[in-house]
Amino acid sequence: MKALVYHGAGVKAWETVPDPKILAPTDAIVRMDTTTICGTDLHILKGDVATVAEGRVLGHEGVGTVVDVGAAVTNHKVGDRVIVSCISSCAVCSYCRKGLPSHCVGMGGIGWVLGHLIDGTQAEYVRTPFADTSLHGCPESLTNEQAAMVSDIYPTGFEIGVQYGDIHPGDVVAVIGAGPVGLAAIATAKFYGPAKVIALDLGRSRLDRALAMGADIAVATSDDDWVDQVRAHTDGLGVDVAIEAVGIPDTLRGCVAIVRPGGHVANVGVHGVPVELPLDTMWIDNLHLTTGLVNTTSSQMLLSLMEGGRLHPEEMVTHRFTFANILDAYDTFSRALDHDALKVAIHRE
Ligand SMILES: [Zn+2]
Ligand SMILES: [Zn+2]
Repeated sequence: MKALVYHGAGVKAWETVPDPKILAPTDAIVRMDTTTICGTDLHILKGDVATVAEGRVLGHEGVGTVVDVGAAVTNHKVGDRVIVSCISSCAVCSYCRKGLPSHCVGMGGIGWVLGHLIDGTQAEYVRTPFADTSLHGCPESLTNEQAAMVSDIYPTGFEIGVQYGDIHPGDVVAVIGAGPVGLAAIATAKFYGPAKVIALDLGRSRLDRALAMGADIAVATSDDDWVDQVRAHTDGLGVDVAIEAVGIPDTLRGCVAIVRPGGHVANVGVHGVPVELPLDTMWIDNLHLTTGLVNTTSSQMLLSLMEGGRLHPEEMVTHRFTFANILDAYDTFSRALDHDALKVAIHRE
């Protein structure tokens, strides 16, 4: 089969690799019909994620068709249309039972293995471990592109942004970074009843999209007085919840700058370097700071909201490619601002 292979920092290729095979009775083999690229894949290609070995097939998102199952798989059968989750979960270890499959012991202590520690979904076929409890049946009413947004983007924005941010009714919420994950946080924040949601980004087109996807106010962080602009939309003390969805030191410190005493900063972005934080002032402001790897425990709920028309994941997909053109998809996604791109969908021919 063909797959997108990581060959060390800055080097990738769409090339022929051996077909995946069932290795454990709980595995399934999925033919990928639609996949996509994550910001994390770009981090890997920058060399930021040292745990990714050269030769690894990248990708941890997508929708496909089951073509083979191990003897112990009972939830899914050959021919089923399934969503591959970025987190693989045994469902029975102590972490899975605590609702933290991000640290599934059955997967060796980290639930994110696809396209990280084992070969991933930017390929014609993928082996998925613990298929019964890691794959989700794809609702008939959702397209592949819609459903692929549940692999990672929506659960990450919702769980690590909205839920960890502890949004309450009446809160003012700011989201720095209106890329796909930030937009997913904006779109799902409404389920907790915030008074207003402020979207912040450098790019005007991204801010316009954020307004279309549920933000009430847009502030350009390219404005020198952006912190004052945000405060002016509160009682002057700052926002209740600031969600970081970029992954660079400036935006995390920006969240600390706009949050009110007693408020929450929820870091969602994947950072490639350490961040210096003003803990000398944060402590006396009683700030809460959360971080996290998604658990994808909200996936079924998010699918229900999509089926019910309460979420519109199709708004995330701006560009479409086939597997043969996956390098063009990478080029578009890695220069997202130039291309006005959010998620790129890559389809089987
Ligand atoms: Zn991802
Ligand atoms: Zn587990």
